[in-house]
Amino acid sequence: MEIKRRLTKSLITLNCLHFPYKSEKKSSHRYRVTVGIGGNVGDVKRRFEHLFIYFKKDKRVELLQTSLILKNPPFGYVNQDYFFNSIIVLQVSMQPLVFLRYLHTIEKKFARKRSFANAPRTLDLDIIFFDDRVIKTHRLVIPHTQWSKRDSVVIPLEGLK
Ligand code: ADP
Ligand code: MG
Repeated sequence: MEIKRRLTKSLITLNCLHFPYKSEKKSSHRYRVTVGIGGNVGDVKRRFEHLFIYFKKDKRVELLQTSLILKNPPFGYVNQDYFFNSIIVLQVSMQPLVFLRYLHTIEKKFARKRSFANAPRTLDLDIIFFDDRVIKTHRLVIPHTQWSKRDSVVIPLEGLK
């Protein structure tokens, strides 16, 4: 079952099967990572469910929690479909750059093609927080530069219980 709630004219929250979700399991992995997930091509909610199962099965990570899903308008390049965004909290033992590469292989598996900035995408996986680390390199900025300015991150984050 899906529950829809309209927040404003353009923002809608959705509750689906595994969004939100919380695990009671204890993990032996070392770091707590908050991952922002998004997409606006094809059946994004179905893809999020597939991603949930993918993480659940993968021993390299422990899926702790997911947030509700936010449907929100695109920014930057606005002539494209609405985005669906959510948050997944994982426990991992990988270091940040290794984890970033891991996320990129998953984006590829889910058939993401990079074209231009803010372009339509099947699945975008961004690291929002990595424990309490602060990283500023050309490949990786943590916390994510824009997180506090984006409804797509802040609203799902608020909903994490
Ligand atoms: P965006 O997410 O900004 O729309 P991309 O997903 O194509 O665009 O990411 C572009 C690059 O951003 C990645 O190749 C990665 O090196 C870099 N990057 C910097 N900080 C982060 C972060 N916190 N999470 C994910 N990618 C990041
Ligand atoms: Mg990204």
